[in-house]
Amino acid sequence: MNAWENLGQDRVVAQLRGAIARGRLPHALLFSGPPGAPLVDTAQVLAMALSCQTARGEGCGACVACHKIAAGIHPDVVTLVREGAAQIVPIESVRTQVIARLGLPPHEGEVRMFIVEEATAMAPPAANALLKTLEEPPPRTMFVLCTTAPEQLLPTIRSRCQRVRFGGGPAVGAGGGDASAVARAERVAALGDELAADTHDPTLPSRIAEGKGDAAPVLVAAARSLHVRARDAAVANDPGSARRASARAQTILSWHTAVAVHNANPVLAIDALIAQLAELPPARSP
Ligand SMILES: [Zn+2]
Repeated sequence: MNAWENLGQDRVVAQLRGAIARGRLPHALLFSGPPGAPLVDTAQVLAMALSCQTARGEGCGACVACHKIAAGIHPDVVTLVREGAAQIVPIESVRTQVIARLGLPPHEGEVRMFIVEEATAMAPPAANALLKTLEEPPPRTMFVLCTTAPEQLLPTIRSRCQRVRFGGGPAVGAGGGDASAVARAERVAALGDELAADTHDPTLPSRIAEGKGDAAPVLVAAARSLHVRARDAAVANDPGSARRASARAQTILSWHTAVAVHNANPVLAIDALIAQLAELPPARSP
């Protein structure tokens, strides 16, 4: 057996296992999903997969490391939880449980993982204390921020984490039309987040999701910002990043041409744009 089974989140599991297999797991992840989605459970399974003594990449669920993680007593896997009447993650937790440990290598495993049970419960000082570390974490250090309300997080926190979206449990994927609507909504939202990070416009995801025509200028701005990034990357002698950013910019501009010049249906055109962007490598390096 392996620890990934029974999470009931096939798409998320495939995404995370794929990232591990390719050696491209980002150092900061944002797990978001509806109440009841197994966000912290999945973070623990990810910790098992990375720390397991017998099935690296999978997590056997049976070795000493896996047992300690499941029991919450592994010294390298720290979960910050809500405390007190206010149910917040206090700055003291960030200072004593995160910052104080950063200078030391992991005790037992390959990586140290910090899990935040509900990232929106971090008071602003706690979130700010975490920010710098999220930007430049020490080697072999990972953060998994969990939340049911990602839109309430500081944009600076969101933009430093790679988003992993959880579905609503067994209902997702069970019914034909609804499932594809949910899948489309997830892809649109993911696209919106990506472009919102480029344009610094947090309203973009909802405007795109509704197929509003006024998303067009924002998408053009996104294309422009991708062009700037491509130019900067070229100047910095990073042709790979330059090519990726440029490819995405061109794809967005072709969408804009279809809608603005050829009068394409904006909603259908968004679907086509999502499909095309999904096939391109991300502009941002992981
Ligand atoms: Zn194990």
